[in-house]
Amino acid sequence: MSNSVIEVKDLYFRYEEDGPYVLNNLSLNVYKGEWLAIAGHNGSGKSTLAKILNGLILPEQGSVKVADLMLTEDSVWDVRRHIGMVFQNPDNQFVGSTVEDDVAFGLENNGFPYEEMRKRVEEAIEVVGMKGFEKYEPHRLSGGQKQRIGIAGVVAMAPDVILLDEATSMLDPKGRSEVLETIRLLKNQRNLTIISITHDLNEVAKADRAIVLNKGELFATGTPSEIFELGSKLTEIGLDFPLASQISHVLRDKGISLEHIHLTTDNLV
Ligand code: ADP
Repeated sequence: MSNSVIEVKDLYFRYEEDGPYVLNNLSLNVYKGEWLAIAGHNGSGKSTLAKILNGLILPEQGSVKVADLMLTEDSVWDVRRHIGMVFQNPDNQFVGSTVEDDVAFGLENNGFPYEEMRKRVEEAIEVVGMKGFEKYEPHRLSGGQKQRIGIAGVVAMAPDVILLDEATSMLDPKGRSEVLETIRLLKNQRNLTIISITHDLNEVAKADRAIVLNKGELFATGTPSEIFELGSKLTEIGLDFPLASQISHVLRDKGISLEHIHLTTDNLV
């Protein structure tokens, strides 16, 4: 039995007939319970892949399977129930006038019974560390808090996968750390599968596994350390190498032991 929750095979996509392929012969798997970062420079095809995984656009060739459902025109709505999306701009995703109304929105729309809804909203707000903010107006929150509320709304719907499309890129360093910490908690405590799309290698450092896209093709795949071993090859395709990793490479090259130096990207994100 496959442990994959998403299987993408030989995927091709272009926006215009006769135009260039934006996704070119792409194959990848996402495994249950992992945090997979999808990294790449602007224009590498990350958002296009996110749109396909969410059924907003369909593959031109190749196949996409989500939770054993093959993505087709007919299955789009079923596929969407399995993937919860969190987008870049925290201000664009609020619909409720209070935090709890906002988190309840998807459940309400889907006609969940009141008691079940209350329970899910309370749990979701708690799991993103926002207990006590239930009656707040969303626009009064910080960027990091807003994104965590956005995540709570998705968690409440109990999808198999949460897909965050550049969800930390508009946040300040504190907000970014809060959101990345929340993702880690969701993975560890809820066993959720996380896909985070990013152009920031600091975010890759936090994930379990990463794939790097370049010009719509799979450039590399592996653990964060395996990806960072690529060194200047990453900068050549427009990705910024995290500072902590650069420092550790320099120290290692100079023969300085890292044993007693605790280097982390936590204070750099
Ligand atoms: P990323 O998310 O990595 O920045 P995108 O998936 O947004 O990359 O874009 C990949 C390529 O597809 C780019 O060359 C971009 O210009 C092109 N593209 C994106 N959206 C559209 C669209 N709606 N119509 C035509 N071309 C598009």
